[in-house]
Amino acid sequence: MQPPSKIDHFGIAVQSIEEASRFYRDALGLEPGGIEEVPEQKVRVAFFPLGEVRIELLEPTAADSPIARFLEKRGPGLHHVAYLVDDLPATLAALKSAGVRLIDETPRAGAHGMKIAFAHPKSTAGVLTEFCQPTR
Ligand code: ZN
Repeated sequence: MQPPSKIDHFGIAVQSIEEASRFYRDALGLEPGGIEEVPEQKVRVAFFPLGEVRIELLEPTAADSPIARFLEKRGPGLHHVAYLVDDLPATLAALKSAGVRLIDETPRAGAHGMKIAFAHPKSTAGVLTEFCQPTR
């Protein structure tokens, strides 16, 4: 497998995109890139392009959303780091054979037209880690 080519985005769990935008949009002056709903994960995602990276704000849309559970346990904050890869199935296979614990063994649909999969923080020095590959 090819190593990831860059960090694609940081995911930050928030109670409210509007409230968090007061920092990222109003105070920092970042230009909002849009808001998208990802029903598979029960989240609304706002992203702010920043150079080659994006800041992704994740707001739960249901009480049983993984983001709602994260907020309940840990409060708002850094949720995950996402690496861009060019062949997600190959990356997952390589990680699995290296003994990395995967949350998703097969790619699923994420925001921004990406196929995504998560590796478990227990295998990644405590940081929930996403791997993503553009589908378009
Ligand atoms: Zn993400």
